[in-house]
Amino acid sequence: MQQLPEPLKAVVDQLAQLPGLGPKSALRAALELLKWPQPRATALGQSILDLREKLFFCDRCASLSDSNPCSICTDPGRSDEQLMVVAEWDSLITLEEGGFYKGRYLVLGGLLAPLENVNPQQLEIARLRERLKEGQVRELILALGTTLEAEATATYLKDMVERDFPQVQVSRLAQGIPLGAEVKFIDRETLRQSLQYRQKL
Ligand SMILES: [Zn+2]
Repeated sequence: MQQLPEPLKAVVDQLAQLPGLGPKSALRAALELLKWPQPRATALGQSILDLREKLFFCDRCASLSDSNPCSICTDPGRSDEQLMVVAEWDSLITLEEGGFYKGRYLVLGGLLAPLENVNPQQLEIARLRERLKEGQVRELILALGTTLEAEATATYLKDMVERDFPQVQVSRLAQGIPLGAEVKFIDRETLRQSLQYRQKL
């Protein structure tokens, strides 16, 4: 995009680095922005600056929030006895949209992946230990998914809690057969886990 006028090129180059936007769609977006009235464009610019200046990581749960501690950590209507561990903040958003969980959270900031040099020191393990040391948590719920990294992380956390916080029970989301699915169409790993975590009737 050498031939673009410099101010336009500057915006296109930045937009093109966003996930899902290549140079062509970045150009389309930039041309659209050019049509916006000045106040609207200024508001967009300001909201991008605000992202960096007014958004915090909560000291207690490590989630993104405009207050610290965040509104979930300070909500008196939620239980301190259940602590759910998620890998990333977007998992928390999805769970909150469901509205059925009334405990607290901790955002790990990723999953263990030794091959990519993600080890426990890079995750929020120290913060998790602090939360458990406070003594209020009775159950740690792992909501990490079912990838190999998720399994490795779940095993690491389970071993740590059993060793250092034996009074805390560790559970995980049930692995399951989707509603409305027939057993014959379920993949083998899902079936294996469904059997392993079967429920008493
Ligand atoms: Zn929080």
